[in-house]
Amino acid sequence: MALKEHNYWLTTAEFPQIEAHPLPERVDVAVIGAGFTGLSAARTLAKRGAKVAVLESETVGWGASSRNGGMVLSGMKLGVNQLISMYGRDLTRRMYAASLETIDCVEKIIREEAIDCDFSRCGHLEVACKQKHFDDYARQVEVIAREFNHQLRVVQRGELSSEIGSNIYFGGVVDEISAGVNPARYVAGLGRAAIKAGAEIFEHARVEGLRREPRQSEAGWKITTSRGPLWAREVFVGTSGYTGAVTPALQKKIIPIGSFIITTELLPEALARELSPRDRMIYDSKNYLYYYRLTPDRRMLFGGRAAFFPENDQTIRRSAEILRRGMIDVYPQLRDARVEYVWGGTLDFAFDIMPHAGQMDGMYYAVGYAGHGVAMATYQGQKMAELIVGDKPDNPFVGIPFRGAPLGLYNGKPWFLPFAGMWYKILDWVS
Ligand SMILES: Cc1cc2nc3c(=O)[nH]c(=O)nc-3n(C[C@H](O)[C@H](O)[C@H](O)COP(=O)(O)OP(=O)(O)OC[C@H]3O[C@@H](n4cnc5c(N)ncnc54)[C@H](O)[C@@H]3O)c2cc1C
Repeated sequence: MALKEHNYWLTTAEFPQIEAHPLPERVDVAVIGAGFTGLSAARTLAKRGAKVAVLESETVGWGASSRNGGMVLSGMKLGVNQLISMYGRDLTRRMYAASLETIDCVEKIIREEAIDCDFSRCGHLEVACKQKHFDDYARQVEVIAREFNHQLRVVQRGELSSEIGSNIYFGGVVDEISAGVNPARYVAGLGRAAIKAGAEIFEHARVEGLRREPRQSEAGWKITTSRGPLWAREVFVGTSGYTGAVTPALQKKIIPIGSFIITTELLPEALARELSPRDRMIYDSKNYLYYYRLTPDRRMLFGGRAAFFPENDQTIRRSAEILRRGMIDVYPQLRDARVEYVWGGTLDFAFDIMPHAGQMDGMYYAVGYAGHGVAMATYQGQKMAELIVGDKPDNPFVGIPFRGAPLGLYNGKPWFLPFAGMWYKILDWVS
């Protein structure tokens, strides 16, 4: 089969067929974005009795939620020592506990809604590209056990063959509680679950304007969309790396970064077992990292930030070759394996690389997942929905400082991405 510039996961999933009804005049909550964040929020809001409209400029799961690696990961992007120095012990403890809870949250929804999406608690493996990265694992594992009462397992270089069929790494660390999922099937199922709970989803409904406007003496929002206007008492923004000019304050705090994935042809069972004997979700210790796993039908899925810019025809095409070379560096066994699919998507990074949620300009939002969004976005959608209906959920990411670029040097157009890409490469070289 010739290389297809197409998301492989989409060939495995069936999305809900949504009829294009006219928009309602009034809803309690308008949710912008039909990815994990928006759909998880819509499901919870509707279950709690709110009238909800999900407004999606494309189709259900069109954004990062159907395009990702399907790694349902514990922890956050930043290391625990850095988190403790930024937030102190108590808040970091709550954040770490929340990161473990995010995986339970995904599993619970999948079980309750009977979503057929190959969810499996297969664990994740982080592999060290340098000896000093490996030395740091031992320190992190000790802090995580002591401070957060969570046990990770260090894998020495000599034992690594039981975890991965590659000999380029200096050792690894395993967290058994992480999971894998087929993200397209999961987001499609989440869409169906939100509809079943009573939320209405409007596809091809791009939000183009948001203005505060009371209605019959009730405070709320006049929303204009590509399919007409509606009024909502509250607005929840779940637009992640696709956040645009309609929410300018949020856009200025989010850096959209491209990430790209290839998948090979179907692999023989023995080869697949050699590459990943325990079927782990795997990523390496670099800033400019690779992440990879087997798909449920035994292809190697190999991803990375081959270009920092968001996906377009050029970056996708270039990524196929860069990632294939990266894959063969890790797994020379795949030299002759055909690459069948390549695609890209956009991640959302905050300047401090942390997830953030709360209220901005009177609107609720949750963003900043930095490549850890499968679990965290689902969790934040649910927690923010609970907040909107008046509960007081414990959510340690609400209210932490959410700063934009230093000196305000960013207006939502990431001019500095080539420099950031180069800087990451230099960091990987020297650290
Ligand atoms: C290639 C890739 C690999 C990744 N791998 C992993 C992984 O293995 N594990 C992990 O945890 N995370 C991973 N991530 C990150 C994860 O996919 C995201 O964090 C998560 O999907 C974010 O979900 P979301 O619902 O917030 O945003 P999205 O799924 O991106 O949805 C946002 C939606 O908002 C819509 N939208 C934007 N503006 C408007 C508007 N004005 N009006 C209406 N709709 C609008 C968009 O069309 C889009 O559908 C990966 C991401 C990418 C791109």
